[in-house]
This record gives sequence, C-alpha cells and structure tokens, in this order.
Amino acid sequence: MDKIRFATVWLAGCSGCHMSFLDLDEWLFDLAEKVDVVFSPVGCDLKDYPENVDVCLVEGAVANEENLELLNQVRKRTKLLISFGDCAVTANVPAMRNMLGSTEPVLKRCYLELSDTGTQLPKEPGIVPELLDRVRPIHELVNVDIFLPGCPPSAERIKAAIAPLLEGQKPAMVGREMLKF
Ligand code: SF4
Repeated sequence: MDKIRFATVWLAGCSGCHMSFLDLDEWLFDLAEKVDVVFSPVGCDLKDYPENVDVCLVEGAVANEENLELLNQVRKRTKLLISFGDCAVTANVPAMRNMLGSTEPVLKRCYLELSDTGTQLPKEPGIVPELLDRVRPIHELVNVDIFLPGCPPSAERIKAAIAPLLEGQKPAMVGREMLKF
C-alpha cells in the first residue's frame, strides 16, 4: 500500500503547535512507517509545497501575503486540510493587532520604535511579505476539513485526530472540541 503523503505548514503562529506535535515522542516512529513527510518546517527543507498531499496540518493564522499564497496552494494540493491549533482556528494571538485598526501602528512599533537602527518602514515590495489589513483564521479563506483547537492542542489530541486517518477512518470527537468532516 502507498504511504500517506503527509505535510505540516507553519503560517503566523509561534510554532508551539509543532512542538506539541513533536511531543508525540515514540508514536512518531509509528507514524513514520505509515506516512511520507513531503513538506514540513520540522525536518523537511523543501521550498515549494508539493502536489497530491493527502493530509496537512496547518498551524497559524493568516497575517500576510505570503501566508495567504501558501494557504491557497495548500488547499489546492491537499485532500484533507486540518486547521491545527487556536491561531489557525480563531486567529488567536496574532489577531490582537486587528484591534489597532490598521497595520501602520504595528509596522511603526517594530521598524521604528523598537529598532536600534531602523529609520524607515519596509516600502519596497518583495523585501518582506506585505501584512494583510486583518489577521484571519484559515477557514475564512479556504475550506477546512477538520478543526483541531487548543493552544497548543495536546499531543494526545493530535494523535486522536491523526491516527484514525491513517487507517482510512474518520476521527471521533475529542473531548468537547470540534472535529468537522
Ligand atoms: Fe502558538 Fe498557541 Fe498559536 Fe499554537 S495556537 S501557534 S501554541 S499561540
């Protein structure tokens, strides 16, 4: 049987959800027997998201143009997209800047007020990805197959979501949290 093509993606998040994934410890060896990890910030240095991915965990909110482009690519090329952690599910901490009303105060704070050397905002396109006006959860932009909340989701809950998929089954409800098919 072909192995499941498995990916994880890191958008605007702190990487804590990926750290929780690594807390699966020895179960990762079982996972490795059943999947090919075709894209991930953890142990995979491919630059482009590949075609024909079976399952992808997406950590983080959508905060800039680069996040949005990658998310759209992930959706087009992935059968089962899992919104992974509270930043992906609700936009969570990265969305605190939405209260400021625009990106300008954030950019000024980062590039002028808190910088020892900065004297100007990044203006030339392409040097840093442009911030979106609002930080958004991923389901507002693409269709999501499964929601896996938590900040971060525990390793136990991650396993409960992924393990059935490896057997071609749907995951059950995990605690009071929502999993949608
Ligand atoms: Fe970090 Fe929590 Fe966001 Fe995961 S949900 S990326 S742990 S802040």
